[in-house]
Amino acid sequence: MESNGGHLQKMIALLAKELRIGQIANYGDIVKAELSFEENLFELLKSMAASREEISLARRIKIGNLLPNKNFDTFEFDPKTLPHVSLKILEELRSCEFVTKKMDIILIGPPGRGKTHLANALGIEATKKRHKVRFVVADKMLTAMMEAQNDRELAKITESLIKPDLLIVDEVGYFTYSPSKSNMLFRVIRDRNENASTIVTTNYEFTRWKEFMSEQGLTLAMVDRLVFLSTVLDMSGPGPSYRLRMGQKRLRMREELADDE
Ligand code: ADP
Ligand code: MG
Repeated sequence: MESNGGHLQKMIALLAKELRIGQIANYGDIVKAELSFEENLFELLKSMAASREEISLARRIKIGNLLPNKNFDTFEFDPKTLPHVSLKILEELRSCEFVTKKMDIILIGPPGRGKTHLANALGIEATKKRHKVRFVVADKMLTAMMEAQNDRELAKITESLIKPDLLIVDEVGYFTYSPSKSNMLFRVIRDRNENASTIVTTNYEFTRWKEFMSEQGLTLAMVDRLVFLSTVLDMSGPGPSYRLRMGQKRLRMREELADDE
């Protein structure tokens, strides 16, 4: 026959599931005989709150179109490969004060330098701090705006780009933009300027932005707004890109393994 304790455990798990507080079913890992009832209850409630926050954060990260694994824990900072970046500035940005201050960040550098990774990581930090964040790839954003079937649809897309506390526009300038797309990009930057934060990643220095924007006047107006209240992070550096370095490391590891055989 089953012990009374076993039966109770099952009932607790069942009720916890029904009440959608599944973590309670693991109470055995949390409650301790030597603690008072209140202490145990407090620990249980804390663990429930933490688990809820984790679920909620994962949901908000997904809604923001952010990748959960491109975060600060997985971002390795090596001053040798990113000589123009410092730990101090990374910590400062990580605090997300720039979002509260409605400031912009421009990450400039050649491919594979961790621009997207860092932008995404900052997006996650801002999400943790309850800011509304949205990550978009520049060309996809502009194409979606161009393909809007009518003014109402365009207004809806535009609003979704203007509203977030932080908009991350990845890969600006990877394509040459038509006059209409250049215009759309300018409008997004203009409408967010001084109202909310924007992070832009690009492989073009500002002096070369006219190469992908169709109109000189627009380019100047846009760069002017972007540099007004912003941090520009130069992510160029010596040596190969992160991808290449990891590839070489893997190759060396494989060779070493082969040597051992
Ligand atoms: P970029 O946007 O500058 O082209 P990415 O951010 O896409 O570069 O980086 C390319 C790949 O290398 C990604 O998988 C990214 O996670 C990884 N990566 C780049 N820099 C770092 C870094 N400092 N620490 C950890 N991973 C990195
Ligand atoms: Mg990138």
